[in-house]
This record gives sequence, C-alpha cells and structure tokens, in this order.
Amino acid sequence: MSEAAFKSGFVSIIGRPNVGKSTLLNTIIGEKITIVSDKPQTTRTKILGVKNLPGVQIVFMDTPGIHKPKHKLNEYMVKTALSTFDEVDILLFMIEAGEPSGPGDRYILEMLTGVTKPVFLLINKIDSLPKNMVLQQIEEYRHLYPFKEIFPVSALCGDNINRLLDSIIQELPEGPQYFPEDIATDQPMRFIASEIIREKIFQLTYQEIPYSIAVGIEDFKEAEDRNLVVIRGIIFVERDSQKGIIIGKGGAMLKKVGQLAREEIEAIMGIKVFLELWVKVKEKWQSDDQVLKMLGYKA
Ligand code: GDP
Ligand code: MG
Repeated sequence: MSEAAFKSGFVSIIGRPNVGKSTLLNTIIGEKITIVSDKPQTTRTKILGVKNLPGVQIVFMDTPGIHKPKHKLNEYMVKTALSTFDEVDILLFMIEAGEPSGPGDRYILEMLTGVTKPVFLLINKIDSLPKNMVLQQIEEYRHLYPFKEIFPVSALCGDNINRLLDSIIQELPEGPQYFPEDIATDQPMRFIASEIIREKIFQLTYQEIPYSIAVGIEDFKEAEDRNLVVIRGIIFVERDSQKGIIIGKGGAMLKKVGQLAREEIEAIMGIKVFLELWVKVKEKWQSDDQVLKMLGYKA
C-alpha cells in the first residue's frame, strides 16, 4: 500500500472587520498565534498561522479588510486583498450570524465572482443566536454565491471547526511542507520572503545553479511611519562561479531576481517593500552555525 501524498496549501480568510477572523485563527492554531493576533490598523496581508496535521500543512493568511474603497490608498489595499484570491488554494468568507447581508458583504461577494478556487462560507458566532435564524441565513447566502460548503461555526467556542478543517484538507492539493514544523509564528513572512527569493533564482537561472544555494534574511524591518518593509537578504553560494551567475552581467541577474521577488512579497504583504540582496560565497554554509541560524534553523 502506498502512503498518501503530503497535502498543503494556502487558505485566506476574508470578511468585514469584527466578524471573528482573528478569533478563528487563534482557535485553529492554538495559543502560539496569540502573539501575532490583530494589531489595530494592521491593514496588510499577513500569514498568521501554520497548522500542521499528520500529512498536512495548512497556511492561513489574513487579508487587508475588504471594504468599498473610499480613496486611492484604500483602493490599493483592497486590490491587494483581491490579488491574493488567485494565490491561495481556498478562500474562507466569514460573516456574522444573524446579520442580513449588507453592502459590505455584497461588495465582497461581487469581488468573488469569477473566482475559481473553492470558497467556503463561515457563518460565525452561532453560539449567540437561535438556530432557526442561522438556517434562514444559510438559505439566503446559498442563492447569492456557489459556495463549496457553508459552515455555521463558533470561532470562540470551537463549534464545527474540526469539520471545517476536514473539508479544507479535502480541497487541498498535494504539495510540499512549506514551513518547518516548528517555524516561529511571529516571523513567517521572513521565511516566505527567503523562499520567494530562492524561487526567483531557480526560475531565472534554470539548471545552472545547483540546489546548494540558500537565502538568509538578515534584516526584516517594518518602518510603520513610512508604510514600508525593509528586507535585506543574503544569497549564499558555495563557489565564485555561482556568485558570478547570480549577479549576472553588470548585476542584471541579481537586479531581476530582486525585482520579481519584491513584487511578489509586496503582493502578499500588501505593503511597499524595499528589498536589498547580496551574494556571499560560503563554501560549506550547510555547517555554519551562524548561517543556519539566519536561515531559521535553531543552532
Ligand atoms: P476580526 O476583526 O474579524 O478579526 O474579529 P475578531 O476575531 O477580532 O472578533 C471580533 C469580536 O467578535 C471579538 O470581541 C470576539 O470575541 C467576538 N467573536 C469572535 N468569534 C466569536 C464567536 O464565535 N462567538 C461570539 N459570541 N463572539 C465572537
Ligand atoms: Mg482581526
């Protein structure tokens, strides 16, 4: 009998503010995530939690709140949230039990038209409402969008959350374990940034660069006042010849890697990114404690 393939993917939780998105994440991920729970005015996309189950890894993402844009910046943020629709495997759209669908929810539903990914509707806070009212709401929403499934849940009490996870797993594609099982939940974006940079190098250099490169993030700072994230990455290679390939003629290759990686990190985080990259030759980086630490492995 062959072993079942590993499944993994990205799940985005969308919905108006206050419906209970953060609460759901805390319940699913457990205590670990509370350190990264909502800060007020956190508008950018963040990966809030990695859920590891036997043979499965689910990466939950928060999106900037979706609302009808009132000005240019809002418009930009909403666009960012919407752009993640294409990058995730499953969308969870959360509404609040007992609330009739208002313009806010209808706006999100409009945005969901044409999305090909499975969309689950979560009707949250059922603990605070009589059951028949929830049933009415299910009826209403069933006609508004072809949801893959509709889950009445209580993020707070954990009702129906295991059933939700089972259905998510059903829809997840086969995929790699994106994060080490003990990845620090307070800095997953750091790790993702390094993976994106690594991916761009592979894409642009084809087979020339062996798998012996690594990307470490030396600095990852949020400059809140300037609405900017400053990232400094180091690409470790083993030989001078590899360094030459990655830098490219007149620095062209490194520039391209940086540009593509920056654009993707910006799309995920929903914030402007300043990305600085350099290349370092380190013959045996695999056994260098300092390098390993930078790569996120505990020394
Ligand atoms: P977010 O803005 O969508 O992230 O919402 P939060 O997770 O911050 O929750 C907003 C409020 O709703 C908080 O006061 C939560 O305690 C409350 N809340 C969230 N989920 C539930 C639930 O299942 N039942 C009840 N009764 N309250 C909830
Ligand atoms: Mg929240």
